[in-house]
Amino acid sequence: MQPASRKIATWVLALCPLALIAADVQPDEYLAHVKYLASPQLKGRATGSPEIEKAATYIAGQFRSFGLQPLGGKSATDAKNFELAFPAELGAKLGPNNTFSYRNGKPRETLREGQAFVPFTFSTNGKFHGQVVFAGYGITAKEHNYDDYAGIDVKDKLVLILRHEPQEHNEKSVFGGKRLTSHATFIDKMMEAKNHGARGVILVNDTPAHAGSEDKLEKLGSSGGPRDAGIFFVQMKEETAEAWLRAEGRDLRQIAKDIDSDLKPRSFDLAKVQVDLSVDLIHEIKTVHNVAAYLPGKTSEYVIIGAHYDHLGLGDEHSLAPNQIGAIHPGADDNASGTAGVIELARWFSKQPQPQRGILFMTFAGEELGLLGSNWYVNHPGLPIENAVAMLNLDMIGRVQNGHVFVSGAQTGSTFAKILDEVKLPAPLWIDESGKSSGTDMSDASDHASFASKQIPIMFFFSGLHADYHKPSDTPDKIDSADAAKLLDYVAEIATHLADDPDRPKYVRVARPSAGPVSGGSARSGYGPDFGSIPDFNEPPKGVRFADVREGSPAAKAGLKPGDIMIEFGGKAIGNLYDFTYALRDSKAGDTVLVKVLRGDQTIEAKVLLTERR
Ligand SMILES: [Zn+2]
Ligand SMILES: [Zn+2]
Repeated sequence: MQPASRKIATWVLALCPLALIAADVQPDEYLAHVKYLASPQLKGRATGSPEIEKAATYIAGQFRSFGLQPLGGKSATDAKNFELAFPAELGAKLGPNNTFSYRNGKPRETLREGQAFVPFTFSTNGKFHGQVVFAGYGITAKEHNYDDYAGIDVKDKLVLILRHEPQEHNEKSVFGGKRLTSHATFIDKMMEAKNHGARGVILVNDTPAHAGSEDKLEKLGSSGGPRDAGIFFVQMKEETAEAWLRAEGRDLRQIAKDIDSDLKPRSFDLAKVQVDLSVDLIHEIKTVHNVAAYLPGKTSEYVIIGAHYDHLGLGDEHSLAPNQIGAIHPGADDNASGTAGVIELARWFSKQPQPQRGILFMTFAGEELGLLGSNWYVNHPGLPIENAVAMLNLDMIGRVQNGHVFVSGAQTGSTFAKILDEVKLPAPLWIDESGKSSGTDMSDASDHASFASKQIPIMFFFSGLHADYHKPSDTPDKIDSADAAKLLDYVAEIATHLADDPDRPKYVRVARPSAGPVSGGSARSGYGPDFGSIPDFNEPPKGVRFADVREGSPAAKAGLKPGDIMIEFGGKAIGNLYDFTYALRDSKAGDTVLVKVLRGDQTIEAKVLLTERR
C-alpha cells in the first residue's frame, strides 16, 4: 500500500479484513547480506564446497535471530536446526579405470586418457571388447534423405563418427545452411547410435572441415546429458581414426569431402580393428543443505518465499566466461540478491502481527546444478506440501534496469490477477507482465519449477539478464539495493495477501511448449505428438517417473497415473528422460503405442493413442 492519504488508509483498515501495512525493507541491511554472500571468502558458493556451508550457517543464524521456527519441531535455539540436509549429485569425476587400447593387425596400442581419448560424463560405465564401424557423422535425417546408418550393421559394436554435420560451411546446406542443427549435438548422435543398436560411440573432431584448428578433446563435464546414457561415449584424437582408416586403405579426409559433395553415406566396417575400452566414472554425491525457517500462521496452510543461495564457485561448465574458469564467480545478483531478499522479508514478517497462513522462508542449494535442492525439498517436504498455497521465487532481483521488473507465473494461481491488480509496485518500478517481452521463457529457469510440478501456484520475480550473468564480474558493487528493497516491499505485500486473503489460489495449468531437456537449437520435428505426462526431474534409477498426468490427455485416457515409472515406449526401452523425449519425437499423432510402466511392484501395459500437440 502506498502512503497515500492517512484517512483513506484508516478507513480501509477498518472495513477490510486485511491489515495491510506497507513493508519497509532497508536497503543497507539488504546490501550487507549481498556483500557477505558474494565476498571472496565465500568463493562463489559452489554446491558441495566448504564455502557454501558457511553461507548456510550465515542464513540459518539470521533466521534464528528473527525468532523463527526450524521445521520438524526442532529447537529454535540451535541455528544448525534450520539447515535441511540432502544428497546432491555433483557431476561425474574420473575413476581409476579409464583405459582404451586397440589392435589393427599390428601389436596392441594403448591410448592415454586425457591425451588421446576422454570419456563423456553421460557415458555408461563398464568394459567393452569388440569391433568398430565407421558411420560418417552418425546422423539419420529422414527429412533430408540422409542416413549414415544405411546398409551397415552396428549391433553391439562401437560406431566411429565425426563431430558436427556435413556441409557445415555451405550456405545452402540442407542442414540449416551454416548454422548447426540439432543433428550436430552430442545427445542426438548418442541417441542415434543407441537406436541403431550400437554399444557405444567413438567421436572424433571433424578436423577436415576445420583446417588450422587444433584437435582438442572435450573437458570432462563440459556438456550436459543424462546421468547414464546406457551406451559408451568417448572422444578420441582424430589422428588415431585416420590411422585406423588408412589400415583399411581408406582416407578419412577424402571421405569427409565426398560426403560433403553429395550427402551419400560412406559407412563401413573397420574389419581389422579390435577395441578394448573401460569407462569408469564416479558420480560424486555430497551432503548439502537447504535452509528453511517457519513463521507459523493461525492455520496449517502456508506461503513459501524462496531463493537459491548457491552459485558457480570458481566457474564450471555453466560459466559464461570460460577463459576465467578458476576465478571466483561471486554471484552477487545470481543469487545473493534473492537470498538477501528472503532474509530481509523473514526479518520484516517476523515483526508483523501473526498472519492467517504461515510463511515458510527457504533458501536452496544445488540450483545451478539443476534445481537439486528445491527438487529434493518438494519430494521430501518438511511441512505437508498440500498446505502450500503459493511459492514466490526470487532469482536475480538486484539489477533493476530502468525500473523494469519481470513477474512470471501470474497465470498459475486463480487469485493472482486480482492480487496483482490490487498491489502496486512502488515507482519508478514497473512490471513487465509474465516476462513475455524479455524474449525468454522463464518457466523452467529456477526453483519455482519444482513447486509448479507439484501443482503449487508460483510467482517468479526477476530484474532481468545482463552482461555479467554467470561471470566473475557479477559483483556486489553493481547491485542496486534501493530498487531491490522496493521490489521486496512489493513482494511482501503480495505475500501478505496470499497469507491473509480468505480465497486460496487454485493451481491453473499453463500450457508449456517444451517436453524435455532437448537442447542444441532447432528441434528437427518439434516435440512430437501429445502424450500428457509431466516428468519428474528427480530421475528414478531407470525409467521416467510421472510427476503428474494431465487430465483428459492421451496418457490419462490410457489409465496412466502420477507416480508411474515408464520403462518402455513403443517397444523401445526407456532408461531416462532423453530416451522418452526422442521416442516421442519419432512418433506421430494417430499412432497407438504400447507403453509399459512400473506401478509399485507391478508392471502395467497401456495402449496410448497419441494426439496432436495443441
Ligand atoms: Zn539463479
Ligand atoms: Zn545461475
